[in-house]
Amino acid sequence: MNTEKIWLSSPHMGGGEQKYVQEAFDTNWIAPLGPNVSGFEEDLARYLGTDCHVAALSSGTAALHLALIVLGVKAGDEVICQSMTFSASANPIVYLGATPIFIDSEENTWNLCPVALEAAIADRIRLGKKPKAIIAVHLYGVPFQADVIRKIASKYEIPIIEDSAEALGSSYENEKCGILGDIGILSFNGNKIITTSGGGALVTKDPKIKEKVVFLATQARDNAPHYQHSEIGYNYRMSNVCAGIGRGQMEVLDAHVKARRAMHAFYQNLFHDIQGVSLFQANDTSYPNYWLSAILVDENQTNGITREHLRLLLDAEHIESRPLWKPMHLQPIFLNYPYYGGAVSETLFEKGLCLPSGSNLTDAERDRIRKVVQTSFGL
Ligand SMILES: *Cc1c(COP(=O)(O)O)cnc(C)c1O
Repeated sequence: MNTEKIWLSSPHMGGGEQKYVQEAFDTNWIAPLGPNVSGFEEDLARYLGTDCHVAALSSGTAALHLALIVLGVKAGDEVICQSMTFSASANPIVYLGATPIFIDSEENTWNLCPVALEAAIADRIRLGKKPKAIIAVHLYGVPFQADVIRKIASKYEIPIIEDSAEALGSSYENEKCGILGDIGILSFNGNKIITTSGGGALVTKDPKIKEKVVFLATQARDNAPHYQHSEIGYNYRMSNVCAGIGRGQMEVLDAHVKARRAMHAFYQNLFHDIQGVSLFQANDTSYPNYWLSAILVDENQTNGITREHLRLLLDAEHIESRPLWKPMHLQPIFLNYPYYGGAVSETLFEKGLCLPSGSNLTDAERDRIRKVVQTSFGL
């Protein structure tokens, strides 16, 4: 039996990364900042394709934290956040002493439900506090309904923070994810579509916001020969070594998107004839990177096989799979915050499973996955 682990999503180096890292060593640009940082920012801005400005940071979480700060979120404010997401989408709201207001998903995109969103905004306004921002997520690289969400946001004049941590390389109606909101954030954590070993970025169309973000991310030093501070700063900038990895990864981003989409097509084929299993798919208006391929298992149609059966059978063969994100409004730490919507995200969490989706998986590994799946469903 092959016991080499098949991961959900593991780092995949393209080969060009070491050249940029070597350059950093050769020129002793090891300290934060340096030519790789600005080079990586330019590569990202060019990729995203409009006149946007990118600030490379130490993580996606740091980017969310600074996005909230530059939008003026303070202690006691309320911020709307998609409930079905990774906790990093919501944690920075609490860092600031603000209150997250969680919103259910819609069935199509698994992202912000526009009906629950508008109901929440109206209710919070009625209760006396207009939310300061909306954090909308493109789960697993599938875009949220940007036109509908933007219409609601602009009706109430609330800025959108677009959590595009999982969606670099996805697009919505020919606009790249990352530039669909007022501020976008990206993540280059080890499991994302490209990685800098750990890192993130904030994307904005306003050069003044970028300037402010870089100022805050580098300890908020005022212009003076000594260390002078009139604001609280953070140590959130990306290092020149990590940015070198990022520059190399940008050379293979398109290939990674292609490979992840091919994994999705592999699953489409694999589950085509399996009753009761549906693969998460985007509609025609968007082009997802399919960062992770995910399925829903309906045990009423599978002779009682649940997503947990499948997960354990895969695990026994050293194949990693994972339930979908557990919604934030069900997390012990967030139980007491307001929640608007029904049980869509709860049902998705009960039935859903993410499957190995890396751009570096081989035919032999796909064969191992196929065998376990087919055996599980009695084929
Ligand atoms: C990964 C991720 C983040 C956080 O990014 P880090 O770089 O790990 O801090 C935020 N939101 C979502 C939806 C993510 O998947």
